[in-house]
Amino acid sequence: MDLTVISTFRCNSRCQMCYIWKNPTEPKEEVSLETLSKLPDGFDNLNVSGGEPTLRKDLHEIADLLHPKARVMEISSNGLHPERLLPIIKKYPNIKVRFSLEGDQQTSDSIRGEKDGYATKVAGLRMLREAGGTDLGFAMVIQDENVDQLVDVYEFARREGFELATSTLHNAWQFYKNDNYFYDRRAVAHKVEGLIEAMLRSNKPKNWFRAYLNLGLIEKILGHDRLIPCSAGRDFAFIDPWSDVWACNVRSDLPMGNLARQSWDEIMNSDQAEHTRGKVARCDQNCWMVTTARTAMRSNLVPQMPKLEPMLWVLKNKLKVSMGKSVCFNSYINYGDVRHSPLVKRASYLGTGEKAHLVKGRVSVDEHYPLKTFVNN
Ligand code: SF4
Repeated sequence: MDLTVISTFRCNSRCQMCYIWKNPTEPKEEVSLETLSKLPDGFDNLNVSGGEPTLRKDLHEIADLLHPKARVMEISSNGLHPERLLPIIKKYPNIKVRFSLEGDQQTSDSIRGEKDGYATKVAGLRMLREAGGTDLGFAMVIQDENVDQLVDVYEFARREGFELATSTLHNAWQFYKNDNYFYDRRAVAHKVEGLIEAMLRSNKPKNWFRAYLNLGLIEKILGHDRLIPCSAGRDFAFIDPWSDVWACNVRSDLPMGNLARQSWDEIMNSDQAEHTRGKVARCDQNCWMVTTARTAMRSNLVPQMPKLEPMLWVLKNKLKVSMGKSVCFNSYINYGDVRHSPLVKRASYLGTGEKAHLVKGRVSVDEHYPLKTFVNN
C-alpha cells in the first residue's frame, strides 16, 4: 500500500493551480511524530508531501521515523530549500526526492509564483546528486501554459540524470481548488504524445511505464474514463495535517479515520473505511495522478510488477518506436470525444505580493475543507 503524509499546508510557493499556500496550517495542529510513529512497517511508497515539507522543523526526525517503514520513502518538495534536505540525503541516499518544476525559468517561476525558483531547484537537485542522492527528479503539472515545454523538460532532466514525474491539472481538497480546467483540452492532449514517444525511446524500463502513465494523462485531459479503475482506500491513502486519514486527496467525502485518535489497524478495518471503499468503487471521477495511477498499474499479485494491460501496451509500443515507427494514438484515444468544461482563467501570483492569511481555530472537517465539489471529468 502507498501512503502520502501531507505533513503541512504551509507553503512558500504561490502556485496558480494549487491554493494550499492560501490555506496554511499552524505548526501546532500538524500531524505529530508521536502520531506518525503509530504507522506500521511495510508500505510500498511512503511520500512526505505538503504544502512544503521542508517548512517542518522536524523533517529530519520524520525521515528517521518513516524511512524504515517503506520500500521507497519519497519527499515531494518545491525545492526552494534544498539545503534542508542535504543532511537527510547524506544519511538516506535512496530517499526519492521530487522538486516541482513547471518548464523553463520564466514559465516555471510564473506558474509557481516563485522568485528565482527555477535556479534554486536546479542547483539544489545537483547538490543532492553530489551528496549521493540516487533517486532525484522533477515533477511537472501539465497545463496549457507549459505543455509546449514538456519534452524539453524531460530531455533536460534526462541529460542531468534526473527523473521526470508528470501529472495534470486536478481539482482536489488537497489543493483547495475546484476550478482547474484546461483551456484547450485537445491541443494539450496532443502535445503529451511527444513525451510518450520520447519516453518509449529511452533505455530505462521505468520510462516506458511512465509512457503508459502519460497515456492515462491524455484520457484525463480529454475528460475520458480512467484506463484502470481506482483503488483508493485499499492500495493507497492520505493523511492530512490534522491526522485525518482519507482514501484519496480529491473527494472530501471519503474519510477513513484519524490516526491521532485510532490505531492504523482500527482505521483500516473500520466500518467507515469499508463504507468509503464502497463509494470509491462507484466513483466516476477520472483522476489520474501519480499515486492513483501508479497503484492502479501495479500487479495485485506482485506489487513490483505491472498489470498485464500496461505491460502489453508497453511491449507493443516500445517495439514500434524502436523500429522507427510512431505510436498509433488514434487507436487508443478517441480525440473526437472531448468533454466540455468552463473557461476559468488562471493568473500568475509572481510578484503580486499576495499573502496567505492564517485562519486559526479550524476544528471540524467542514472548516478544514470548505469547498465541497471536486469534479475531474
Ligand atoms: S477516482 Fe474517485 S476515489 Fe479515486 S482518487 Fe479520484 S475521486 Fe478519489
